[in-house]
Amino acid sequence: MNTKEKIQTLRDELRQHNYNYYILDDPTISDYEFDMKLKELQALEEAHPEFFDSNSPTQRVGGEITKNFNTVVHDFRMYSLDNSYSKEDLEDWETRIKKLVDGEVQYTCELKYDGASMNLTYENGKLLRAVTRGDGVQGDDVTTNVKTINTVPLQLKGDYPERFDIRGEIILPIEGFLKMNEERIANGEEPYRNPRNTASGSLKLQDSAEVAKRPLECLLYSIKGNNLNISTQYEGLEMARQWGFKVPKEAKLVNSIDEVLEYVAYWDTHRHNLPYEIDGVVIKVNSLFQQEELGFTAKAPRWAMAYKFKAEQVSTRLNEITYQVGRTGAITPVANLEPVQLAGTIVKRASLHNADQIEKLDIREGDEVYVEKGGEIIPKIVGVDLSKRPENSKPTQYITHCPECGTELLRPEGEAKHYCPNYNGCPPQVIGRIQHYISRKAMDIEGLGGETVALLVNEGLISNYSDLYELTVDQVIPLERMAEKSAENLVNGIAASKQIPFERVLFALGIRYVGETVAKKLARHYKSIDALMYASTLDLVSVDEIGERIAESVVEFFSSEENKLIVERLRSFGVQLEISAEKLANQTDKLKGLSIVVSGVFETISRNELKKLIEDNGGKVSSSISSKTSYLVAGDKMGPSKRTKAENLNIQILSEQEFLDMIR
Ligand code: AMP
Ligand code: ZN
Repeated sequence: MNTKEKIQTLRDELRQHNYNYYILDDPTISDYEFDMKLKELQALEEAHPEFFDSNSPTQRVGGEITKNFNTVVHDFRMYSLDNSYSKEDLEDWETRIKKLVDGEVQYTCELKYDGASMNLTYENGKLLRAVTRGDGVQGDDVTTNVKTINTVPLQLKGDYPERFDIRGEIILPIEGFLKMNEERIANGEEPYRNPRNTASGSLKLQDSAEVAKRPLECLLYSIKGNNLNISTQYEGLEMARQWGFKVPKEAKLVNSIDEVLEYVAYWDTHRHNLPYEIDGVVIKVNSLFQQEELGFTAKAPRWAMAYKFKAEQVSTRLNEITYQVGRTGAITPVANLEPVQLAGTIVKRASLHNADQIEKLDIREGDEVYVEKGGEIIPKIVGVDLSKRPENSKPTQYITHCPECGTELLRPEGEAKHYCPNYNGCPPQVIGRIQHYISRKAMDIEGLGGETVALLVNEGLISNYSDLYELTVDQVIPLERMAEKSAENLVNGIAASKQIPFERVLFALGIRYVGETVAKKLARHYKSIDALMYASTLDLVSVDEIGERIAESVVEFFSSEENKLIVERLRSFGVQLEISAEKLANQTDKLKGLSIVVSGVFETISRNELKKLIEDNGGKVSSSISSKTSYLVAGDKMGPSKRTKAENLNIQILSEQEFLDMIR
């Protein structure tokens, strides 16, 4: 077997194992064996870039960064669905249908997966692109991210049409969602609100490697195309399954609205046994011929109908209202409930949001309250059963002082939440801020976790993140569950963080509203903490994409003497408070305002290095060509369609060398 054949065989094998594992849920080899084969393929591909294939199983791990998602017009418009809530609604719908089509009508009943809709285009069995629904007419090209989702086949099996679109829902199974949140909480980060928002948010992440880490899935439900040779919706689902797509088996073909209602009733009570969330059922006229006769309204197909489940509600006793203090000092009131079964889980707590919410519903301790589970994992209180209010009940007095440190609370004008202003003395704020500082995307300190931070603070060993750098092994060893080895790792991990570049240090400081992206922008513009510290609000808002809210927050942060002192301490320990000389030397504005697309394989430089060069010189890397593209940097093996597109739009094509000459 020559190398090319070897690569091909490995790709086929891995594809089949991927299919067995993710679609059939029936793996035939161990994870270890799979990893070995994948590694083997990776090594071969690396040694032979001439056999690069963007649909190889190795491409699932991601790594490509998308700065701007290009807009793509859908070949077939993505409609919304009409909603129904009752037997009458469905019967009315059937009456309307029967006026427009002849003969018997069969229906396909499917689950309504609660996620983000996705349109996948396949050509010659290969995934060509993945586009979000957007406004239905056009959406965003999120191909790089969707490729990392294991249930999306990159290469189809069997007898598929030459070109077609297939639609589905990107979802996050509940178990994976809960696991992600556990990790976030351990890192001192805010948990995600619900699987649906998290799934749709994931599609727009810039770093596809980040998407690859999330356990997303794609469930398919509809095929669009010309001359497909499919005559019913149900048949379409079966075909898609044969081509390698994940099509849930719960779909059912029925002959009457009564049977539809049975399906609805069954899934309304059994939905909690599914590994993912659904928010209803979708009913579709089965015959595609009849579908065509029925057509569309301005908004939705006449041949389909969603049946939405009612949000589940129960009533229970509110035992006590307690208050939580977050990392930013924000206060969240929490309802502690008499445990009750709701939507498949036992609910003990519900969020009360803020003081206004409590006042509006007049929620009191001792009340019998209605608890509902809507789209959010955390249930909410939607009302009070006044008939059951105890006689001695008194209106809730919202707390005036911080439950953790006793400081008087503030409520900034225009904000719904109360805050504890004791920035440097309130334990959850102090601990939360240090937990943020050490977290993966910030200083990424190995050997130190969120719980240890809490211990260190509670033992009085540290009171802010600059104190970390003075910790010694001897101080740490006496802590609970600390062996000598782990104490050493902790101290070494902290020392290693002195190498973390300035932009991440800036993010790690935990200035309100200064997230990762803003930190990068500020670091690039000001180049050192000294310049940033003395910047005025006016000066700050003149920076591209920095608004007033961020500017004010930065100024406020550095107006605190305590914060300035902490920064000085960080400096004395050698933490990076300015852009490294090397980075500075490499940074120019030569490409300012230019949007550049990179495509193909390069000789003297990797694709990622090239992209970094563009950014370091002030340019923007864009993932696909549009009229806004300034240059296309073309390497070897660039697809001919990209070249044609660039030529049609009159976009200048640069070779690797031409590009390098341009910035040097
Ligand atoms: P809505 O967003 O409420 O208008 O509902 C329409 C959306 O439901 C579609 O855009 C799909 O993303 C989603 N959906 C989920 N499951 C299905 C399904 N089985 N068939 C059709 N659409 C579905
Ligand atoms: Zn406090």
